[in-house]
Amino acid sequence: MKAIKTNLKSNLSCHSNQRTMIILFVLFNFYFLFPSLVKAQEIACANEIINTNQLKDTTFLNYLKNINLLSTTQNKLHGNVLEIPIVVHVLHTGEPIGTGTNISDEQIFEAVRGANERWRNLSSDGVDMEVQFCLAQFDPTGNPSNGINRKDASRLANYVEKGIGYIGGTLIGEIGSDETQTKNLSNWPHDYVYNIWVVNKIAGNWGGYAMFPLWYQFSNDGTVIIANAMRYSSSTLAHEIGHGMGLFHTFEGSSETACPANANCSFQGDQVCDTPPHKKADCISSTCNNSLDSALSFKNIMSYCGGRGIFTQGQKTRMSNTITTSTRRFLLNSTACTGLPCDTTKANFSFIVGSNNTVTFTNTSSNSSNFNWNFGDDSVSTQASLTHQYMQAGTYIVSLVSQNSCNIDTIKKTIFIPITTAVKYNHSASTLLIYPNPTNGNFNLKFDVNSNEIVHLEVINSIGQLVQKQILSFGKEHFISFENNLSNGIYQIQLKKENRIIGAGSVSVY
Ligand SMILES: [Zn+2]
Repeated sequence: MKAIKTNLKSNLSCHSNQRTMIILFVLFNFYFLFPSLVKAQEIACANEIINTNQLKDTTFLNYLKNINLLSTTQNKLHGNVLEIPIVVHVLHTGEPIGTGTNISDEQIFEAVRGANERWRNLSSDGVDMEVQFCLAQFDPTGNPSNGINRKDASRLANYVEKGIGYIGGTLIGEIGSDETQTKNLSNWPHDYVYNIWVVNKIAGNWGGYAMFPLWYQFSNDGTVIIANAMRYSSSTLAHEIGHGMGLFHTFEGSSETACPANANCSFQGDQVCDTPPHKKADCISSTCNNSLDSALSFKNIMSYCGGRGIFTQGQKTRMSNTITTSTRRFLLNSTACTGLPCDTTKANFSFIVGSNNTVTFTNTSSNSSNFNWNFGDDSVSTQASLTHQYMQAGTYIVSLVSQNSCNIDTIKKTIFIPITTAVKYNHSASTLLIYPNPTNGNFNLKFDVNSNEIVHLEVINSIGQLVQKQILSFGKEHFISFENNLSNGIYQIQLKKENRIIGAGSVSVY
């Protein structure tokens, strides 16, 4: 019964329940009384309309006509098999996952498995297309993904009631939600993955449709399929992707009553020579060409015939030419299913010492995504490139650890920070003991000065000016007296030997 219903939809586009019942009744009896005369058909595809509109584009038309003449330099992956990464966007109407149009992950995985088995001819007697489809394992930013996105599209005008609109649909009164707006609810770059949108309905009650590849630059390139057809048992996904990879219907150019023009099989009909031309509804005995095996069209995935399950060698050649010469070829080098290759990482950086002891570090590591800096002064960072200000002059060993998902590398460089008047002090790291602090200007400083060394004491005010300088005498404890004209506030104390800072601290004067 299911097959008869889809037959009805494709042939009659009937929307009246009463009419449906009557015709169903007639078909039902007809089917059982004369089974050899009627063969059930698969759900219809809006490419019947879309092709007509795409074929008005001269550039597109010229491209299509040349596909069969192009020579292929095939970019084979996995032996002889081309792998096309796909992403599935479920544009549901607000249901919980796994119910209604918000079909489950499992159903999608099974639908993709079904499409792959049909394309690889695992259960039929046709041709192995040597193409398979993988759900993206990484999103366009490189983060892990299962290749499935979900969006509630119910707020879009006409979506719940009519479904998505499509090019040419409005011309024949099939008005749905704005196609581009609907697809842009979730849309991945078209040179990264082949986009598939699962929708509640397609305006006009079609089962699916797909753009030919030259329209890649448009945001609406990809396959659209109704949720009901996105399942293992349906051949609709395999059929629509067929259009997406350059294949026409086997009955292309036919009417209900007339055979397709096919005097030149390379440029007319489906532009494939081993698929005999036939009328859309004819799945029993072709009256259009007797010299070819009619089963090559009647069992063909690109027909509407029930039980369709094969592709032909002619279709394989055309499809293969399309993938490798059109914009689809970019998909063959996509990292959506494989992730970035695991290259050896190499850590490196350059640096410039600027004013105020600030150093600009430029990360020149290769094939790295994670970084760990250690600046040699107890400071660390995970930024790629950055500036860092040292609190004290001195010599520092800076290390950078660069990592990707599988490799790690480390580099160390020595940096000399010269003394400047704008030195700031890391009080917590001070080695100086000062008391009393706060002070009235007279205080004690503990610091070992040997008899054979010269240690300078410098006092710096809050705006970085050197306001007092003296030599510390030999001994462990030193009495310091500020000069009378110093105002109240906080002063930095630094001890220097041979122009290197060997101790620092601060003192508060009240
Ligand atoms: Zn179709």
